[in-house]
Amino acid sequence: MPTIAVKGTHDLFAEEAEAYSYIQNVFKAASELYGYRPIETPILEYTEVFTHSTGESSDIVRKEMYTFSDKASRSVTMRPEGTAGAVRSIVEHKLYATNDAPLKVYYCGPAFRYERPGLGRYRQFIQAGVEAVGDDSARMDAECIALAMNFLKMLGFKNLVVKVNTLGDPESRAKYRDALRDYFRPHLGEMCEDCRQRFELNPLRMLDCKVPEDQEIAKGAPKMKDFLSPEAEKRFYQTLSILNDEEIDYEIDDGLVRGLDYYGHIVFEVHAKSETGSDYGALLGGGHYDGMMKEFGGPEEFDHGVGFACGVERLYSLMKDNNMLGDIDNSLDIYAMPLGEAVQDAMYLIVEQIRMCGYSCELPFHPGKLGSMFKKAERRKAKFALILGEDELEKGIVQLKDLAKKEQIEVKIEELAEKLDELFDALDEEEEEHHHHHE
Ligand code: AMP
Repeated sequence: MPTIAVKGTHDLFAEEAEAYSYIQNVFKAASELYGYRPIETPILEYTEVFTHSTGESSDIVRKEMYTFSDKASRSVTMRPEGTAGAVRSIVEHKLYATNDAPLKVYYCGPAFRYERPGLGRYRQFIQAGVEAVGDDSARMDAECIALAMNFLKMLGFKNLVVKVNTLGDPESRAKYRDALRDYFRPHLGEMCEDCRQRFELNPLRMLDCKVPEDQEIAKGAPKMKDFLSPEAEKRFYQTLSILNDEEIDYEIDDGLVRGLDYYGHIVFEVHAKSETGSDYGALLGGGHYDGMMKEFGGPEEFDHGVGFACGVERLYSLMKDNNMLGDIDNSLDIYAMPLGEAVQDAMYLIVEQIRMCGYSCELPFHPGKLGSMFKKAERRKAKFALILGEDELEKGIVQLKDLAKKEQIEVKIEELAEKLDELFDALDEEEEEHHHHHE
């Protein structure tokens, strides 16, 4: 029997699990500030959902999907990303018809790619992403970028810069593809097998190749900006001018093409820079897409969208390396300390009341030594200890000890809830003052 997790997957527990949950909560809060609503789609989809949307030419679809036949010999795939499932669901349930456009959704959950596991590369990882569909506007694209930036700021990232590029409209892209084929054709013999396939399927992807020799060749390739139709160009500058107004830092990167076959108009990546200015790489990526809903039988007039996705593992590891996880509150409000079997049941009832007042509380199921209970309380980062011995029980009181200030008071059991409200309000105020000092 294997006693280890499947290669490329990882367990989350303790502080790490708390940090992941914190990141996801911030993501949810940021998305909701922008009016996005949750969507949850199945991990398992029919394989065509991805081949017809993420795109035949993408590395994900060509090489990295967890695809298998189910018992009825249907080909199903564990989702490698979130966009395809979200769009499939929106079309299947005609959400565009029953809700005001644009329809804005966010999701966060596991995605699967059969890649070589390595630094920051997993076979099961968590993706957080948003999609706004049903409206074709530069403003909607800009709003999505603003959400991406503000989400990362809320996590504490600084020195963020958005790299942007435009892939124009379908006409611009068709001209550009021809130009790229003309450029790459004489070099094909020296290029990798992947690039030779990309040449046929989608030559834009050749700009993205990771093979150094191919990158050298790609450097001399024609640029998208020279093939933009006037309308596509105007739209790009419209989005950029909104970013300017919002004082969002951006850089135009004409090598940026990104994965999805349906991308058009603006594509973007948010990069973080270290204190010394070196690039940590992309934290998040996305862009505008057209024509994907039609693949699922959706109506043409709603067939525009914009979205982004990011890997929670990547955010976590950068936050950890840059000591950004210190502010996560994983403390326990109260650690209950029953002194002996005789008070165990009474303590249990008190603890239940405390919990219903909204304070987190841990109670050992077996009586122990006071010293060892204090150690456990410390490990759980408890704010208060609640001590009950036989004497206290007889008098109808408990001892409440502030574990930071080392101050202990006696409280009547019937006044405990009130006293806790008072003490925790005072703690909140102290914390707020502390916060002000630091701002
Ligand atoms: P993509 O859909 O390829 O643009 O990826 C979106 C985000 O998912 C990236 O920014 C990565 O942080 C994350 N990601 C993609 N593949 C993996 C992987 N194998 N392991 C961990 N994170 C990943």
